[in-house]
Amino acid sequence: MTKCEDNNFPCQDLDYDPFDKNARAELAQPIDADQLVNMSEYCMPVPVDPGFLIGDMDHKLYLKPLKGQSGLYHLWSAHDDCDDHGTYTMLCAYVGKGPPDTRIANHIAKKWPNGVTLHATFSVMSNRLAKYYEQLFLDTYRFALNYAENPGTLDLFAVWDEDRFIMGTHANEVSELSTMQSPDDW
Ligand SMILES: [Zn+2]
Repeated sequence: MTKCEDNNFPCQDLDYDPFDKNARAELAQPIDADQLVNMSEYCMPVPVDPGFLIGDMDHKLYLKPLKGQSGLYHLWSAHDDCDDHGTYTMLCAYVGKGPPDTRIANHIAKKWPNGVTLHATFSVMSNRLAKYYEQLFLDTYRFALNYAENPGTLDLFAVWDEDRFIMGTHANEVSELSTMQSPDDW
């Protein structure tokens, strides 16, 4: 038995059919949920606790690569990890659209629970499409931090490898944005 089978958490071959079948029926060029939640171009752990910051590397710095963009974002917390498959299973707490850097910073200030590590994912898309996908996620899945228009009942899980979970997609870009010049500053 692998750890995920033992502990009965989703790890391999996740089923996003309830989402995908609607997008495929309604859009000419649908994006599958797997693409949006497991392969997004931005996926970063974002520091939320001011007591544990390294130098100037706060959440604003981590969100800077998103500045000026528009699209769909998700906020995640770690659910479990599987050492047999080398994967991290994530549970989604929020889906949203709009200018991601300012919106996510606002969520961190107002609704993200203290002491829970935040991982943010983001996919660039037009505002019209982001509205569609946001609503389809809300209609299909339940999110602990979406308080309005959220009739969905399923949990939305993602499964990431260690690189995506720990380093994320923009670690180099974020450290280049930091004013800390050398490893001695860390
Ligand atoms: Zn597993």
